[in-house]
Amino acid sequence: MSQFSDFLIQRPAFVRAPLHELPPAVAERIAAGEVIERPVSVVKELIENALDAGAQDIRIEVRGGGLRLIRVSDDGYGIPEAELATVCERHTTSKLTTFEDLEHLHTLGFRGEALASIATIAEVTIQSRAWETEQPGEEQPAYWVSWRGGQLQERGRRARPHGTTVTVTDLFYNVPARLSYTRAARTENGHIVQLVRRYAVGYPSVRFYLALDEHTAVQTSGSGNLATTLTELYHLSLAEMLQEIDVSDGKHYWLRGYMGNRVLAQSSRQYITLFINGRWVQSRALQEALEQGYRSLLPKGKHPLLVLAVEVPPTEVDVNVHPAKTEVHLLQEAKIKEALIQVVKGQLERSPVIPEAVQFPGPVLATQRRLPGPRRRGLHVAESAEGYRAEAAEPGTAIAIASLHPLAQLQQAVILAEATDGSLYLIDQHRAHERIIYEHLRSTYSGVKAEEEEIHTHLLLEPVIIEMKRYEAELLEQRLPMLRGLGIEVERFGGRSFLVRSVPASEGSEQLAAHLQELAEIAAEDSVDWEDHLLIGLACRSALKRGRELGPGEQRTLLKNLSNVAAPAVCPHGSPILLHYSRSFLINKFDW
Ligand code: ADP
Ligand code: MG
Repeated sequence: MSQFSDFLIQRPAFVRAPLHELPPAVAERIAAGEVIERPVSVVKELIENALDAGAQDIRIEVRGGGLRLIRVSDDGYGIPEAELATVCERHTTSKLTTFEDLEHLHTLGFRGEALASIATIAEVTIQSRAWETEQPGEEQPAYWVSWRGGQLQERGRRARPHGTTVTVTDLFYNVPARLSYTRAARTENGHIVQLVRRYAVGYPSVRFYLALDEHTAVQTSGSGNLATTLTELYHLSLAEMLQEIDVSDGKHYWLRGYMGNRVLAQSSRQYITLFINGRWVQSRALQEALEQGYRSLLPKGKHPLLVLAVEVPPTEVDVNVHPAKTEVHLLQEAKIKEALIQVVKGQLERSPVIPEAVQFPGPVLATQRRLPGPRRRGLHVAESAEGYRAEAAEPGTAIAIASLHPLAQLQQAVILAEATDGSLYLIDQHRAHERIIYEHLRSTYSGVKAEEEEIHTHLLLEPVIIEMKRYEAELLEQRLPMLRGLGIEVERFGGRSFLVRSVPASEGSEQLAAHLQELAEIAAEDSVDWEDHLLIGLACRSALKRGRELGPGEQRTLLKNLSNVAAPAVCPHGSPILLHYSRSFLINKFDW
């Protein structure tokens, strides 16, 4: 990692600066204050304070969905007695002094507002023992202070190990509007579990414990290993299904993390967690970049399990743009977006399907099933007939499709082929052909756009008439020049009728005639993705069907063409093309 050390954020040792009130001029320039919308916002602020204090162990207790009680205990540097009474005052912080300090911020908090906001809408007790007052061999005192409705109530002395415990009870007792907005305890608990899981994966070396109404909901060991943390959170042996990400340009960004392979794709974005300089963010721009990376490589509506820590130089990120600090402004956003797209694409495009097939040999990879048992709540894993007995992916399972030798066509749908290393592949003929045509159309289409290259079209024997809905007809009309760029000649035939004269040239061109209505509807889709959807539709409808017999020559040609595409493992809809039975798998299963 030494090449990254130039810009890698060297977080300073956790040393606490004295607490002070921000000068009005600084306070004014800090984006609007902390917003406590619901119980989970309190948990977030308290976890961030514990992390800022260098905690290695964070225990969170929640009762009644957070309305009755939220208690966060840490083993961080604590708060000295002299300062304990002022932590709940507005704009009082130990993390920022001048506005310029924001440029090299190493803490998650900086506004000195969270505790102040919480103390005005709840009863808050803070008990703390500061690290710096510790003397060996001496029983050290610890102090506590309580507030209600922003007013200091009581204070006292009580022994405890170093660190801080913040207890929040009666949340929103004086804010009926927020109280009515707060949902059932179960809903609030759900948000809290998700949040704690996110911080647990963002900080694998910190031990997290969450109890909801005295039942353990999250527990991690603080092992420092993200794969271990993920396994602890989801109670599955995930290590084999995770791919490590470690990419940097050595200057503006360093992306580190793990991405689940395709078997772990989920129907929700909830398993995508993004951190920027240790801060969990929900940046729409970066989320879009991630989606752009995986959209065509996973089935529609599926999202990967992804934990990504983005490190950027502190001078290239502005954290002062969002009240809840969940959005940041990145100076090099375009570069980072591009890197995210490439990382996600790269992970899914080639390698993942093969090791996954090694791990999950079986006839089907696509069925999704909810795992039984309460501890596996929420995470879906695609299952094969073999279950989860994963074979370790061998190094060098690199795809050697060019060297594949077809042995037979099975069920007029699948080609059985042997690789030079003695392993076997099953190749779905329709999906393989679909991928080949899709990439061909893609490259001609972008080539045409760039250089006005010659387009190969296939004139239909009989022009086909299609009928559109009124709003579709207008969109289609506008897109006729773009369709021409693909080799599709369409002209308006009066009213809402159109005449299609030609389609892109490929072996399956004539097949397309029967699907022109459907394809025209895709071409008239009111979506930014209509071009890609159309290419996928064209590829799908002109590809070899299952049920078509292929001679040895045709099988060889198909495999040869497949070896030339960028993403030979996955069809444009995101489904697998190849299953791989490694030689060691055969040896193992046959007990040779
Ligand atoms: P901020 O985090 O923006 O400074 P907060 O209102 O969250 O504002 O906290 C105010 C101050 O209280 C912090 O700057 C810090 O000095 C102190 N503090 C809060 N929580 C803790 C904690 N768990 N451990 C040590 N100090 C804390
Ligand atoms: Mg804070």
